[in-house]
Amino acid sequence: MRYEGSVYRPPSEARSYILQVTIGCSHNRCTFCSMYKDKKYRVRSLDEVMADIRMAKLYYGDLEKVFLADGDALAVETGDLVKIIAELKKNFYSLRHIGIYASPDSILSKDIEELKRLKEAGLTIAYLGVETGDPELLKDIKKGVTYEEMVEAGKKIREAGILLSVTVLLGLAGRTPQAVDHARKTAQILNEMNPDYVGALTLMLEPRTPLYRKMQRGEFELPGPFEILDEMRIMIENLELEGTEFRSNHASNYLPIKGRFPEDKENIMDLINTIINRNDARYLRPDYLRAL
Ligand code: SF4
Repeated sequence: MRYEGSVYRPPSEARSYILQVTIGCSHNRCTFCSMYKDKKYRVRSLDEVMADIRMAKLYYGDLEKVFLADGDALAVETGDLVKIIAELKKNFYSLRHIGIYASPDSILSKDIEELKRLKEAGLTIAYLGVETGDPELLKDIKKGVTYEEMVEAGKKIREAGILLSVTVLLGLAGRTPQAVDHARKTAQILNEMNPDYVGALTLMLEPRTPLYRKMQRGEFELPGPFEILDEMRIMIENLELEGTEFRSNHASNYLPIKGRFPEDKENIMDLINTIINRNDARYLRPDYLRAL
């Protein structure tokens, strides 16, 4: 298989064949993100993508799951995405899942009919990085959209019938009182979207990011494990989700949790409160085992 630069996918797409339909991220400005800093954004030509599909056919024979990358694959023109999905279905008879990375901008740039077209073609799930519900923090991290636009993007995906998986980022407000607002407002934005899946990740700073440089200048401090746990406690306490699968089992997290809302909320809260009250770091993943 041929790939350009580093390739990323959500943990739940670990068994998917990754097909790059874009290179890099069209936004590429979030202050905490280093994923596509080595790439200049472009949409790959249909010829290139179709040639990759033929290669994958020769290599794998059949596939059940495909993930469309890079960072903002949904930015590809809708008609081209429909052609790519059709070609995938033609080549892989067992295909039952097609996931895609979607930025809020690329979702908002498509109308609801386009998104429904993609759903009908076979797009199963879109992964959206929400990061925070705090409007000020969204601005600080240069996410490129407002709180309201982010909500609209999430709701549009759901309205089109595409599964919505969002990620939020614990620790993003640093070691500041704003962390409480970050946790509360993140719960609020999630409640408004009611996504099918929520993944909570914990901020880890990579060199080459503006936030890392801010930390080096002493202007940003990463919260410690129990401060992160407290953010998670406040966020979960304020979540009013219906039928959402919640996960914090990403390798960056101190405490891996998996549960369904609303039925598992009480048990999750009990677990977090117990660990906070005992103040015992042995329950938490040690820093040397955390990774992005
Ligand atoms: S977080 Fe997402 S939208 Fe922001 S730069 Fe990284 S890949 Fe692009």
